[in-house]
Order: sequence, then structure tokens, then C-alpha cells
Amino acid sequence: MPTGRITVLGLGAMGSAIAARLRDTGYTTTVWNRTAAKTAPHTAAGSTAAATVPDAADAGDVVLVVLLDHGTVREHLEPAAANLKGKVVVNLTTTTPDEARSTAAWAADHGIAYLDGAVMATPDMIGTPAARLLYSGDENAYAIAGPALAALGGAEFTGADAGLASLKDMALLAAMDLMLLGYLQAVAMMRTVGVPAVETAGEVESWLAAMLPHGKEVAAIVDGGAYDTGGQSVDFDRRGLASIITASREQGVSAQLLEPHLRLLDELSATGHGASDWPRIIDRLTIPK
Ligand code: NDP
Repeated sequence: MPTGRITVLGLGAMGSAIAARLRDTGYTTTVWNRTAAKTAPHTAAGSTAAATVPDAADAGDVVLVVLLDHGTVREHLEPAAANLKGKVVVNLTTTTPDEARSTAAWAADHGIAYLDGAVMATPDMIGTPAARLLYSGDENAYAIAGPALAALGGAEFTGADAGLASLKDMALLAAMDLMLLGYLQAVAMMRTVGVPAVETAGEVESWLAAMLPHGKEVAAIVDGGAYDTGGQSVDFDRRGLASIITASREQGVSAQLLEPHLRLLDELSATGHGASDWPRIIDRLTIPK
């Protein structure tokens, strides 16, 4: 039976799943939620409800924060700084890397051991091997909270920079976002001739599965940094993409999702890189600080 007192701040869909999992694993759990009524199923199942965030902080050695966003987190943690001193705070609320770093700096100023987390899972996946949770920040805090965090799913410490977990989360979400938009573009094009979305879905899935392994080749070209392997070039890609854009428009489908890609390739070609490997496009994505 695990020992340790864990507090969960926030009982939305994700916070509730996390509190339930920790309780079911055997941890003594205290919960707090802005809308107090949401604590009822948790107290019925054996958790203790705290009336205020400072009270909730007092009741836990490890405090998990699962609130809406960065602003909400700071709004509720700052007045409880004295209660959190000497404790481990694990913030699983989705934030940006700089927001995570800002909260880490605030925590350090108040003697709080801080870990920032990113949940790569939906609430129903919590407690299963399919859930992946990333953590960054205070490694000692990770060692202390580790056994409890392992109960939530696969746990991975990504480094001492508190922004790293969020950065990886956002990078993977960016990849998903662009991939799913591509999926919708294909559906929109095929719908013009009456093909149902579900049928195009199957086609896209097979096609992407065949193409995904090439991602590692793209990565090797980027890491090599020379963009001279003689593979698919910027100009070759421009021609292909121009055809896709024309085909979309011919079918009465907007190409506005594809046009920014073509603009980046055009910029590369115009600056003398038409013969470069197309992954050179990454240069256009990097904004000098
Ligand atoms: P919900 O919308 O279900 O819950 C939001 C929680 O934040 C509730 O506890 C809500 O309290 C609380 N809250 C909102 N505004 C305030 C406020 N001003 N003051 C105090 N509490 C507030 O969201 P989730 O539980 O799904 O998500 C929580 C976090 O987890 C988010 O950052 C989300 O991005 C992240 N996450 C969620 C995933 C998911 O699939 N659900 C996946 C990965 C990450 P109240 O009940 O009073 O409204």
C-alpha cells in the first residue's frame, strides 16, 4: 500500500480521473475544486474535501494542480505560497514552456519544489499504459513524487528546464494539428465527388502509415544541415504542391491550408535554394531571437 498524502487541485475531467486513480492506488487524497459540489463523488469514494486551496495544500505532501490554464494556476497557488513551502507541486495544467518556467521561478522563490507536467492522454486513459505523462523541472521533486506519478501512466522526466515537458507536448500537438488538417483537406477534396469522409479516412490512414517512416529520413537531412542529398528538392516540391492547390481549387475546395506551405517553398526558391532538399524549409520556420 503506497504511503503519502496527495492533494489534487481541480476536479474537471482530467483532475477527477487523476484523483480517482491515486485514491484507487491507495494514496490518502485531499481534493479541492472551485465548484465545491464536484468534490462529492470523491468524498463518497474516500477522499477528503478541502474548503480552500491553503487548506488543501496543508493536507498534502505532493500537490497536483489540474486547473484550466496558467492564469488559473497562478491565481490559486500564489495566495497559498506559505502553505506550499517545502512541498512538491506538480502542475499538470496545460501551459506554454515560458509559462512553466515562470511558475518554476515563482516556486523557487517560495521554497517550493516544482515539477511541470504535460499529459499526453485523455482522462479515460489515466492509469493505463496508454497514458504518457512528461515532467520537467526539479529532479528531486520528480524522485519524491515519482511513485505516485507512475500510477497515472508512463512517466518520463524530460529535464531540469521546467519548460521542456510543455515544449514537447506542444511540439507533438503541433504535428497532430497539421496532420489532422491535412486529413480534412483530403476529405474536402473527395467529398466533391460524393466520397464519404469515412472512406477517405481509410485511404488517408493507409497512405500516411506508408509515408510516416520517411519522417526519419527528413530528420536525418535536417540534422545533417547540408540539404544536398539529391533527394526531393524544393523546386520539385513546389511543382507538386502547386498541382495539389490547383486540383483543390478546380474541385471548388479552398487551398488556404496549403498556400502557406507553397509560400515558404517559393521564398526558398527565390533565395537560391530551389535545388536544396525540401526539408530546408525548416530554416524559414526558425525566427531569430
Ligand atoms: P475541465 O474543463 O474539465 O476542468 C477545468 C477545471 O479547472 C475545473 O476543475 C474547473 O473548476 C477549473 N477552473 C476553471 N477556471 C477556474 C478558475 N478561474 N478558478 C478555479 N478553477 C477553475 O478541464 P480538464 O480537467 O479536461 O483539463 C484540465 C487541464 O488538463 C487543462 O489544462 C487541460 O488542457 C489539461 N489536459 C486535459 C486533457 C483532456 O483530455 N481533458 C488532456 C491533456 C491535458 P470548476 O469545476 O469550478 O469549473
